[in-house]
This record gives sequence, C-alpha cells and structure tokens, in this order.
Amino acid sequence: MTAALRGALSVACAPCHDCGLLCRMPAPAAQSALCPRCGAAVHERKPRSLERTWGYLLAAVFCYLPANLMPILKTTTLGRAQADTIMSGVIYLLLHGMWPLAAVVFTASVVVPLLKLIVLITLLVSVHRASGWRPIERTRLYRMTEAIGRWSMVDIFVVTILVALVHLGNLATVEAQPGAVFFGAVVVLTMLAAESFDPRLIWDRSEGRTR
Ligand SMILES: [Zn+2]
Repeated sequence: MTAALRGALSVACAPCHDCGLLCRMPAPAAQSALCPRCGAAVHERKPRSLERTWGYLLAAVFCYLPANLMPILKTTTLGRAQADTIMSGVIYLLLHGMWPLAAVVFTASVVVPLLKLIVLITLLVSVHRASGWRPIERTRLYRMTEAIGRWSMVDIFVVTILVALVHLGNLATVEAQPGAVFFGAVVVLTMLAAESFDPRLIWDRSEGRTR
C-alpha cells in the first residue's frame, strides 16, 4: 500500500450526492459537510434515516385501510351511480371474464403495497434490534423494495386501462373518489419511506457500529 493511499484511507470521506465529488468530512463522526465544488450538503449517511422512514411508513399504513375500503371510482350509467372499491373492481373484472386484468389490478394495488409495507417494517425492526440475521438477504430485500417503487406507476396505468374499459362499455361518467387519494398517498409514502431508509444500517452490527 502506498503512503498516499494509506493517507486517503485514514481520512473520512463521503461522495457528494449531487456532483459525485469525494469530499473530506471535517471530523470522523461529522453529520454533514458542504461540497466544495457544488455547495450541496454531503452526508456520510442518509440523515435521520430511521426517524424519517418510520414517519413515512406509519403515514402509509394509516392510509392503506381507507385506500382499500373506500370507493376509488364512481361510474354513472343512465342515472344509475355505482361506487367501486379496489376489491369490488377486481371482483367485477373477474365476473366479466377479464381475469388477467383482475390479477394485474389485485397484484399491483393490493399485494405489492402490502408487501412493501411489511418488508420495510421488518427491516426497521431488525435494525432497531441490532439483528445480525442474514444481512445479505435483508439488503437484497431492500433493493427489491426500492426497485418496485420505480414501478409504482403501474397502478396509474391500471386505473387508466380501467377508465378506458368503462368508456368502451358506454358508461356516461367516471369520477375519482376519496379512496383514490388515499391510494395515491400509499404509493408516494412507501416510495419516500424506501428512499429514506439507509441500507448501511443493516451492516452496522457486523462492523461493530452502534448507530
Ligand atoms: Zn457536489
């Protein structure tokens, strides 16, 4: 090992999130520094990761029930109004022989959000208990949850298809209902929760760190 490399390793550095410049942290345990090139705040870790992830997650759990129990769509045909929840929409599709679409809506709207909530809560609890259980698998689980977040727009896509179908069926009007707002909130809040979680926390125990 060269002297220069040894010197570099002894100094605490962190990459800038905005421009990628490797910045020197002022003290080994410093919470943040300013990037000398672009002026962005540089953090060695995501700041207050656990508090923020819990906050977003609890809000998402709170919205999950109304998202599934309240109507998301109201359709009106010749003066007859009908409000549908996600589940009644799935059942409607099943009864009309559109089971592949029913499977997509059920998976994207009910199963995936629930799995994301369960995985993130499990990860948070395991970090709080300083668990040394299968860190590689837990990191993979986190990466999957984060990747699924990018596909959350599938839900919007599904609603678009539904609206198109309803129009094809000569229905007069389609209106969004309060359940749709809660549903959108669950999607956004779980994405923010996954984004706030710092997977390096999973590895702290094996490296002897207590943060
Ligand atoms: Zn920068």
